[in-house]
Amino acid sequence: MSVSLSVRGLRAGYGALRVLDGIDLEVAAGGLIAVVGPNGAGKTTLLRALSGLIQWVGDVRLDGARLPATPAAIVARGVGHVPEGRELFPGMSVREHLELGAWSLPGRLRAARLEEVIGVFPRLAERRRQLAGSLSGGEQQMLAIARALMSRPRLLMLDEPSLGLAPRMVDELLAVVRRLHQDGVTILLVEQHVAQALAMADEAYVMERGRVVSRGPGPALLASDAVRAAYLGTGGRPDASTV
Ligand code: ATP
Repeated sequence: MSVSLSVRGLRAGYGALRVLDGIDLEVAAGGLIAVVGPNGAGKTTLLRALSGLIQWVGDVRLDGARLPATPAAIVARGVGHVPEGRELFPGMSVREHLELGAWSLPGRLRAARLEEVIGVFPRLAERRRQLAGSLSGGEQQMLAIARALMSRPRLLMLDEPSLGLAPRMVDELLAVVRRLHQDGVTILLVEQHVAQALAMADEAYVMERGRVVSRGPGPALLASDAVRAAYLGTGGRPDASTV
C-alpha cells in the first residue's frame, strides 16, 4: 500500500534563483520522514518540486520508477500534498472541498471515500455543511489533510501543518499524522515544531540554504548537540521550541 521515494541531486528554483542545490533524500515505504530547517531553507520548494508544481532536475523515483512530470500524473501515482497555508476556498463547504479532492473518482466511489475520510476527523464530520472560511485554524488544517486523503495517497507530503496553531491543536494534528503513518501511509513531513517532528520521525533531514546539512534517525538528531544548539536552544525546553 505504501510507496518509497528516492531523491538524488534534486535542483530547483524560481527563474534564475536556484533554491535547491542538490538534495539527496530517501523515504522508505511506510516510513515517517521529517524535514526541518530555518526559514528560507527550501523546504516548501522541495515539496513543490516533488508535486510537479515547479520544474526541477535530478533523479526522483517512486518505488523505483521515475516521478511523472505533471501534478495530475503525480497524484495518480499516489502522492498527496497538503500545501503550506492550506489553500482552501472560504466560500466552499467541508463536503465540497472533500468532493474536489476526489474529482477523478466516479460519484458512488467518491461518496464512499468521503465517509471513510471523514471518519478520521470527527470535528469535520459534525461540520460537513460549514463553509471553510468559518472553520477554526485547526479545523481548516484538518480539512486540508482530509482533502489530500480523498485521492487515497500512498505518500502524503505535509508542509508545516501546525503553522499558527495553538499547542493543543498542534498535538492533535501531529497525532493525526502519526495515525496515518500507523495505517501504512508513507509520510514526508515538513515541520517547524522541530522537537515534536524529530521525536516522531523514523529518519529526519535538516536543510539549510537549499542543502541537506544533517540526517539521521529523528530521536538521534534530537539528542545531537549541533541540532539542539541550532534549533532548540541549549538548555531550553525542547517541547516548547520552534525553528
Ligand atoms: P519557511 O520555513 O519560511 O516556509 P522554506 O524552508 O519552506 O521556508 P521556501 O519557501 O522553499 O523555504 O523558500 C526558499 C527560498 O525560495 C526563499 O529564499 C524564498 O524567498 C524563495 N522563494 C520561494 N518561493 C518563491 C517564488 N515563488 N518566487 C521566487 N522566490 C521564491
